[in-house]
Amino acid sequence: MKVRLVLDYSINEGVLQPYFDGLRAGKAIASRCDHCKHVAFPARSTCAICHADTVSFQPLSGRATVVHRSDGPAASHALVRFEGADTQTTVAISNPQSTEPSGTLCKPPANQSEDEPPNKTNNETAHRPGLWLCLGTSPLTKESNDV
Ligand SMILES: [Zn+2]
Repeated sequence: MKVRLVLDYSINEGVLQPYFDGLRAGKAIASRCDHCKHVAFPARSTCAICHADTVSFQPLSGRATVVHRSDGPAASHALVRFEGADTQTTVAISNPQSTEPSGTLCKPPANQSEDEPPNKTNNETAHRPGLWLCLGTSPLTKESNDV
């Protein structure tokens, strides 16, 4: 028997508020260690390299290069490195039909709303964004080039 289990939980965004606010706006905001200058995306409150707990935030372009990709029947994911970041991270691919080797951070596709908890008791967790990548040239890139 297969049962889908949905858990509601709340995580204080605390010092990572700029990172989450950026994701909600479709922007990549990385943390930069004040001590060794290591740039992490997703942002971290503590440096993974020197363990300093003072970080600043800096915007990235949102462009990412695919390091490895995994396609399944229900979803596609990729290990990517965002431009300007010293780290790699996994993202969901919003347009899996594309075979482009790079893309841009984007908001989740509209059909992902089925992943939201059926009983939304906490709006903060209901709107917590995930990492999605649109492969190829995205509208976000076109807009930034037109300015
Ligand atoms: Zn550091």
